[in-house]
Amino acid sequence: MRLKNVPGCRERIAESEFVVPEDKLKECKGHWREVFDNDNEIHIEIGMGKGRFIYEMAEKNPGINYIGIEKYSAVLLRAVQKMEEEPRDNLIFIRMDAESITEVFDEGEVGRVYLNFSDPWPKDRHAKRRLPSREYLARYDKIIKDGGRIEFKTDNRVLFDWALEELPESAWKADLVTFDLHSQEELMTDNVMTEYEAKFSGQGKPICKYILSRK
Ligand code: SAM
Repeated sequence: MRLKNVPGCRERIAESEFVVPEDKLKECKGHWREVFDNDNEIHIEIGMGKGRFIYEMAEKNPGINYIGIEKYSAVLLRAVQKMEEEPRDNLIFIRMDAESITEVFDEGEVGRVYLNFSDPWPKDRHAKRRLPSREYLARYDKIIKDGGRIEFKTDNRVLFDWALEELPESAWKADLVTFDLHSQEELMTDNVMTEYEAKFSGQGKPICKYILSRK
């Protein structure tokens, strides 16, 4: 998701109480519990876009701490504006490229990683940038605690099939795979829609999902 540059958005993000200052990110590694001032489990969404999913998750699950990660300030600003209207104690945002995620979270510090409608990076030479790639799965392996999991949803069947093929090369196995999430009532009970999910499922596109745990 790329929005047109919004004048002043970098400054507004830098000043926001809902975004961890970029120069403090590395200091937070191993200390996220202190940031939230409690011992609740931490779940992160990488590539959160405008934040509909993570905001609603935080609303539904006050006993979990949520961290939304987004690369672009102009996109993140939308989520920040929502927090300004109605703040949530258990949600905070980071503006960063998730490539350096292991510099920001310590071993076992995260309970769950959500990847929703991740950018497909269709060129082969960009495969390592795909968030469900073996390279990223190895990064998640470093930060997710024992018993933790990874959840991925997408409408992009080519990306999803490729992501499944990455699993044998990783520390992760699929506990659930569906190629049509919205047709499965039992899985939809707890489903929280993302912006992209609402758009694509509204167009009748099937939504794929996997849930991974460690092998
Ligand atoms: N998750 C949202 C949804 O489902 O509606 C947004 C999906 S959008 C297609 C993908 C988002 O991931 C974009 O906002 C993009 O900027 C962000 N993104 C892609 N690669 C990223 C990375 N390496 N680190 C952080 N954010 C990233």
